[in-house]
Amino acid sequence: MKPEKAAITLNNGITIPRLGLGVYKAEDGSQVISAIHEAVKAGYRLIDTAAVYENEQGVGEAVRTADISREELFVTTKVWNDRQGYEETLAAFEESREKLGLDVIDLYLVHWPVTGKFKDTWRALEKLYKEGSVRAIGVSNFNIHHLETLLEDAEVVPAVNQMEFHPLLTLPELHAYCREKGIQLQAWSPLTRGRIFNDPLIQELSVKYGRSPAQIILRWDVQKEVVTIPKSVTPERIRENAQIFDFELNAGDMERIDAMNRHHRFSQDPDTFV
Ligand code: NAD
Repeated sequence: MKPEKAAITLNNGITIPRLGLGVYKAEDGSQVISAIHEAVKAGYRLIDTAAVYENEQGVGEAVRTADISREELFVTTKVWNDRQGYEETLAAFEESREKLGLDVIDLYLVHWPVTGKFKDTWRALEKLYKEGSVRAIGVSNFNIHHLETLLEDAEVVPAVNQMEFHPLLTLPELHAYCREKGIQLQAWSPLTRGRIFNDPLIQELSVKYGRSPAQIILRWDVQKEVVTIPKSVTPERIRENAQIFDFELNAGDMERIDAMNRHHRFSQDPDTFV
């Protein structure tokens, strides 16, 4: 299968590509624009940005000047922690929409579960969804108890939960909970920013399948039905990370990667983030 054809249907019936380009730390302007154009050529159809990445302008320009139509691309952005609350979130959304220069955003996420605020933030996202400003709404960095709290009053069930997720952090309980609720799991830092490429098992499978460590890990995401958004601004790596739909890891090897889980986070824990 070609990367551009690989998609999953969300709980509101729209489809999300299985592979996206993460643009955290991609510089606004020419760097992020050329990375996105390279990615589109390689078959990526999802771009993952956030207000706090400060590159929404470049992302919007890249989308408008890409070789394919706007409708073929899926653009995600997120409301940052210091803009949470109902009115603040509505204002932050307008700023993001203006910077992106897009009328409709495909997916808008609550970036982190800010205590005491995220329910009001969610009401704002529900309004944006109902008025058609966004095609889907979701959350990021929500543990099970955050989701339970959100769902107490939510009218719309989040379509996506974007989490740090990789072989050392496979979140089995959260993944099962999200499946049960119809919430699609999405992996951020899927490659652990390169920290586990030399792991003996990843190396062994890389030789066995004739694929790079990054491709083995991203293929594991695909087979676990997790949407993955690796970041790179390097053309060869962008292309390499998309070549994951033409081979398959066998069930035993999937289980061996699953068994690498150490509940290890390289970044902040949603229960203690600051
Ligand atoms: P990642 O795991 O995708 O790693 C990216 C880094 O790995 C690159 O900078 C590069 O150094 C290296 N790399 C990528 N492809 C490679 C390859 N083929 N070979 C060798 N090295 C390679 O890390 P990330 O950027 O933290 O996560 C991806 C995306 O997830 C971000 O860009 C962002 O869009 C999103 N994200 C979201 C949150 C959140 O809180 N929701 C947090 C962090 C990141």
